[in-house]
Amino acid sequence: MSRATGETIKQQEQVRLSLPFRDAQDFDDAQRGFIAKPNHGVVKGTDGRVVWDIDSFGFAEAEEAPDTVNPSLWRQLRLLTIHGLFEVVPGIYQVRGLDLSNITFVEGTDGVIVIDPLISAETAAAALALYREHRGDRPVTAVIYTHSHVDHFGGVRGVVDVADVQAGRVPIVAPEHFLHHAIAENIYAGTAMTRRATYMYGPLLPRSPEGQVSTGLGLTTSVGQITLIAPTLDITATGQREVLDGVPIEFQVTPGTEAPSEMNFFFPDHGALCGAENVSHNLHNILTLRGALVRDPHMWSHYLNEAVTLFGDRTDVLFASHHWPRWGREHAIQLLAKQRDLYGYLHDQTLRLLNKGYVGSEIAEMFELPPGLANEWANRGYYGSVSHNVKAIYQRYMGWFDGNPAHLWTHPPEEAAKRYVEFMGGADSVLAQARRSYEEGDYRWVAEVVSHVVFADPDNTDARELEARALEQLGYQAESGTWRNFYLMGALELREGGKGTPVTTMSGDVLGAMTLSQILDSIAVRVDGMRAAQERLVLNWVLDDEQAVTTLNDGVLTHIVGTQVDNADATLTFDRPGLAKALLAGDLSGMQVKGDEQAPGRLFAVLDAADPDFEIVLP
Ligand SMILES: [Zn+2]
Repeated sequence: MSRATGETIKQQEQVRLSLPFRDAQDFDDAQRGFIAKPNHGVVKGTDGRVVWDIDSFGFAEAEEAPDTVNPSLWRQLRLLTIHGLFEVVPGIYQVRGLDLSNITFVEGTDGVIVIDPLISAETAAAALALYREHRGDRPVTAVIYTHSHVDHFGGVRGVVDVADVQAGRVPIVAPEHFLHHAIAENIYAGTAMTRRATYMYGPLLPRSPEGQVSTGLGLTTSVGQITLIAPTLDITATGQREVLDGVPIEFQVTPGTEAPSEMNFFFPDHGALCGAENVSHNLHNILTLRGALVRDPHMWSHYLNEAVTLFGDRTDVLFASHHWPRWGREHAIQLLAKQRDLYGYLHDQTLRLLNKGYVGSEIAEMFELPPGLANEWANRGYYGSVSHNVKAIYQRYMGWFDGNPAHLWTHPPEEAAKRYVEFMGGADSVLAQARRSYEEGDYRWVAEVVSHVVFADPDNTDARELEARALEQLGYQAESGTWRNFYLMGALELREGGKGTPVTTMSGDVLGAMTLSQILDSIAVRVDGMRAAQERLVLNWVLDDEQAVTTLNDGVLTHIVGTQVDNADATLTFDRPGLAKALLAGDLSGMQVKGDEQAPGRLFAVLDAADPDFEIVLP
């Protein structure tokens, strides 16, 4: 690890001068209502593995940011380390800092409603225990998932028994289509997203001023048991009212915002508005760096506006599933309004500039937020960034192609790299010039140009070290926690090679909740097209009470659900464990075959395996 260069220190000083560091309202809010810290900062799994370790962020106690951390991000880190059980208002409590997200407890007549049970069963159970230690041993009477991301449902089995849900004693409330979207993200690009998530969240980086200093949205992700219990009560429309355990709740559905299935909701008896993850103390992602479909900033802005209209004149406190609440009507509405305008501004100004012919990278570079939005701490790009969000909006409307035919059919990275290095006079010449750029502080250019040398010859250790040093300074300078993690993970892997992927969102519960159609989709994206090109195969599938027909033709596996055909090569009957064995281990012994015994083997023979550890900074 290198130290911060003079150029980086200068940039950090610039940040100190340009932002309103004297405004300490967020620190007051993050501490308000504090009841207790957990007895242990470390949460372990049943196998003794560390699932969560708040103590590892103890280095953030110093008020002054070290030279190796952007002072604005350091401020966010210090806010995120304020953790424990907090009272939002009498009857509503939050445990913060025990996972990436918050878990909220709303007290009802007979027990307590849980909102968003974190990522892991272990952290969720620890949070519930902390709550009960101070608020009494209340049973969980309902669970609400605000949206379909794993940090808002993964720990559900840590707070509720699936038998109580199945018996109808504990309703699980979620926005419509929750289950479909919670699973869909894992099916198509799950492996690649998971690999990139290690770069985004940086779980392999040291927790230190030279390493991981949060993700901006939360400290980091817990690594325990991910669970899922399907919702039993759908919220389908804005204005829907439900009473859970004697507590009335008014819902606002917000599909296509931060998640494809998401909702805000209001507690009229408490004057409390839950903003899910639509409102937070950072600029969020229009396109997350781990990869996803591009989100819609236009609708996001619209729904925040609608929330102000629906609940604004009754809201005394605004809380969410990340970060700390805002108290006071004016103060709470101000946050909604500032974020509404932030996403609206990003959307409208990107389109204005795009319609003048600028491409994404140009717009990102020239884009400026007006002071009323930029100087709002909650609008700073700790998780998303203005730069990559603007490019995402360009992508949403225009796609990857910038319209310049010179960019329509470029050589892929390794081929381009060889040619660049040769044209630039060979690796030694490139590195000599790049070292000068490094001295001048142009780390962006060093990273871009030296990456060509690395891709042309990954054994060039001088090139790898120089690129690593440039990425490191970019990481130290980054205000966004996710940019910092990407840069520092890149530096780590350039120096030490890849180390495997500890982040996963797939689990037995998630697999178990897949429909037959989703399972067949997950098989189809593993078909090696050319190997399967000559196969023609029709199969009937039976899984519990679901059925489908697949056709493998010209290297493509398509399916129709809810039917069977007479002329199939075979009919395959599975139970879920048998199908899991076939998919995960290629073991077909848990399957019954009627018809051609060889037919299923012909399909499984053309399935390819994904690579969970593919290279990113190396060819
Ligand atoms: Zn979240």
